[in-house]
Amino acid sequence: MKDIPPLGTLVDDGVRKLVIIGSGPAGYTAGLYSSRALLDPLMFAGYMSGGQLMLTSEVENFPGYPQGVEGAAMMAHMREQAERFGLEVQDRNVERVDLSERPFGVWVEGEEIRTEAIIVCTGAEAVWLGVEGEDAQKGRGISVCATCDGAFFREEEVIVVGGGDSAMEEATFLTRFASKVTIVHRREGFRASKVMYERAASHPNIEIKTFRQVKRWLSDDNGLTGAIMEDPRDGSIEEISCTGAFIAIGHKPITGFLGNQIETDAEGYIVHSENTMTSVPGVFAAGDVVDKRYRQAITAAGMGCQAAIDAEKWLEDQC
Ligand code: NAP
Repeated sequence: MKDIPPLGTLVDDGVRKLVIIGSGPAGYTAGLYSSRALLDPLMFAGYMSGGQLMLTSEVENFPGYPQGVEGAAMMAHMREQAERFGLEVQDRNVERVDLSERPFGVWVEGEEIRTEAIIVCTGAEAVWLGVEGEDAQKGRGISVCATCDGAFFREEEVIVVGGGDSAMEEATFLTRFASKVTIVHRREGFRASKVMYERAASHPNIEIKTFRQVKRWLSDDNGLTGAIMEDPRDGSIEEISCTGAFIAIGHKPITGFLGNQIETDAEGYIVHSENTMTSVPGVFAAGDVVDKRYRQAITAAGMGCQAAIDAEKWLEDQC
């Protein structure tokens, strides 16, 4: 039988064809497609692989799961499916990259990996309010992840800050533990989808307060005790009691390790120059690190597929 050389790792000089950085739906889908294209991709999934969906309770809007699915279970399925076709996954963080020449350099725990192409799928991380008293209570009374920390607040009163789907989802999830959940939002209109808003608004243990902006967190020796809220319309002040607070006011893209070598927009999201390719030829990007409009698991997965196909074609053209 004819001996067919592998298309993937360039064993001669130790240069990879493709490194995928990040492991949410975009990363795993890019991994699945590029593995099936025999690019022998290496994924750096991060110490907390799976991305934001690992912190999500139930996903009801990803096609193919008629009963819904836990976020972590869906990520495990995606990983298993990509690994079945040969995706190599390392649960390590990329510290920095050198995109000044090809092959590119990727540094992980001091080790350098060289690669012809990169797909960046590092997603986004939660934004904090940054108001007085927050730093001291981070990870104690104040959290950005109800799935992670909700169980610490059994029979306690908690607040959720925000008016988007995340806030509705966090609040609804927290009713499993907390005796009362108050959603505080800075204006009247909600970004949340109708179905998620109505589910939260109709829950007997959830109260929604609009025109409330957290100005300061209050605490004593035992932890969080409440917050000072301001009404943005007239500046009036109200104090609200709570022992737990969950901030759900959006996310920012994770691009620090790129060190300004790729063009981003004013908010730090990576910009595509052609299809899914970034301003650096050979570097592609997909998912929430690019997308501030849709930010859905399904759109991230779709973009991961596009990036893998674009990377495959680009690598082919380089030969
Ligand atoms: P988002 O839709 O951007 O909503 C952020 C919310 O936080 C907005 O209500 C915003 O208020 C508020 N906010 C922002 N900065 C604030 C500040 N400094 N102080 C007080 N409030 C502030 O973000 P998200 O809820 O995280 O959702 C992101 C994306 O993920 C969306 O596309 C959403 O559909 C999706 N998602 C989907 C699901 C699901 O389907 N299961 C679950 C979660 C998220 P303003 O409206 O006044 O700007």
